Amino acid sequence: MKIISSVSEMQIFAEELRRSGKRIGLVPTMGFLHEGHLSLVRRAREISDAVVVSIFVNPAQFAPGEDFERYPRDIERDKSLLQSEGVAVLFTPGSGEMYPQRFSTYIIPEGISSVLEGKFRSTHFRGVATVVGKLFLIVQPHAAVFGQKDAQQSIIIKQMVRDLNFNLQIIVAPIVREQDGLALSSRNVYLSPEERNDAPILFQALQKAEALIHTGETDAAAIIHEVEKTIRGKKTAAIDYVAVNDAESLTEMTTTQTGRPVLISLAVRFGKTRLIDNIIVQQ
Ligand code: AMP
Repeated sequence: MKIISSVSEMQIFAEELRRSGKRIGLVPTMGFLHEGHLSLVRRAREISDAVVVSIFVNPAQFAPGEDFERYPRDIERDKSLLQSEGVAVLFTPGSGEMYPQRFSTYIIPEGISSVLEGKFRSTHFRGVATVVGKLFLIVQPHAAVFGQKDAQQSIIIKQMVRDLNFNLQIIVAPIVREQDGLALSSRNVYLSPEERNDAPILFQALQKAEALIHTGETDAAAIIHEVEKTIRGKKTAAIDYVAVNDAESLTEMTTTQTGRPVLISLAVRFGKTRLIDNIIVQQ
């Protein structure tokens, strides 16, 4: 596995891969890898000849007071995991490489970036879109794989690809969970034993919502109420939001009687740790 930390070196290598007819698959991450990330790598391997994984804890997507400094990092462990997955290139640029002095051009997604997560993290998707756009230009992938775990992020990226004519395919892979249903996340290591014990309630609540829809409930407010009631049963949980949206357009749904896939998403704080999760209900 080649390890590259310079933008120009990555661009030259990507150019060489393309010239030799290789299909490039990109998996952007912030590192501290888990099985969720590795599932994306495996998906990328299926559809490309050379997989590039980027590890970059992107300061632009963290607001002041969020966990940028304490975000978990273990680059040596990440390297050996990626090595055994047959990754061609690990791209690990430093902050100065991605945001050199006088950096001043951002990609600002409008509309759908101000709902859900955007209401709580107003500059988050500007940071995400900017870094992902830069990675697309640096790595020149034919395809990039993202996780359904960050549902709104993958919708915003797809929109950006359409709007700015990036010439690549976006693939969204399913959420990988622990045995007890907790969605894998690099941030799960922050949870205290008690919080970790309570956290599987998120998926249980989402499954309840799915069951409600399948038994004929169509009122979004009633579904949200049930999810919130379930989560409030755990004393370490504090809800930021529970929402019901169209899974493709993110339009808020007041009724699920649309026949379209429904995205039920939530963000819940356990102490200082903010977790997000979601489920898509096909009708
Ligand atoms: P992150 O390192 O948190 O920026 O995540 C990098 C990519 O991995 C994103 O596309 C995430 O949606 C995806 N991802 C994170 N957790 C999971 C998971 N549990 N299952 C599937 N994909 C995930």
